Amino acid sequence: MTAKTSAARYVALIPAAGSGLRMGAGMPKQYAPLAGRPLIEHAVHRLCAHPRIEQVFVVLAPGDTQFNRCDWQGCEAKLSALYCGGETRAASVFNGLLAANDALDANDWVLVHDAARPCLDATDIDRLIAEIGDSEVGGLLAVPVADTLKRANAAQEAVQTEGRDHLWRAQTPQMFRYRVLIEALRRADIAAVTDESSAVEQMGAKPRLVQGSAANFKITYPEDLVLAELILARTSQSAGK
Ligand code: C5P
Repeated sequence: MTAKTSAARYVALIPAAGSGLRMGAGMPKQYAPLAGRPLIEHAVHRLCAHPRIEQVFVVLAPGDTQFNRCDWQGCEAKLSALYCGGETRAASVFNGLLAANDALDANDWVLVHDAARPCLDATDIDRLIAEIGDSEVGGLLAVPVADTLKRANAAQEAVQTEGRDHLWRAQTPQMFRYRVLIEALRRADIAAVTDESSAVEQMGAKPRLVQGSAANFKITYPEDLVLAELILARTSQSAGK
């Protein structure tokens, strides 16, 4: 980590080293086709196109051979591939932060975004930066829980209705100062960390929840691709593309 000499910059880090078995696509989920291109291209192009994001690091599995076959036209100036993915998403993020160390200052903002969230809109990034760019800790996009929540027993019967007040669904990007994030992941039980915010929370800090959009959902199952195609078609129509 270099000494702080200038204003904090915004960089993105995209963990893309998963196997995505729940997709059953016969390939890692991030390379499943979506609207005519591999899934990963959507998130990477959107982050590279954002004027506030100066660099985009993608964390890949060490043996990945597909990333270099994707279309990165227009991304060259910002994009770096790091072949250091780990056993879990959090391990991939931690390894990526270590690998990018020389390029980052302690106060730089790192926006960690799932490769599997292709419908991230530039306005979501704008809102995240506007709402937490002046905080010391950071925060994340999230949406308030809308459905009624049921607690089930082992037989999958509803045994209790849970209150949903103050409950949010975490999304990405999750945006933290480099020094905060790397320290949080260093201290955390990495196998138990499901998102960056939970590691930061374990240190006693309170990441801010910034209202996101339901469209920024994570592709997990094959049917999710259908919904994502509809969202992408609608947004490219309204942008006149
Ligand atoms: O599997 P899941 O949907 O939680 O993955 C979220 C993101 O984390 C995906 O972009 C996936 O490629 C990435 N990941 C990773 N390393 C792992 C597991 C997941 O970079 N070991």
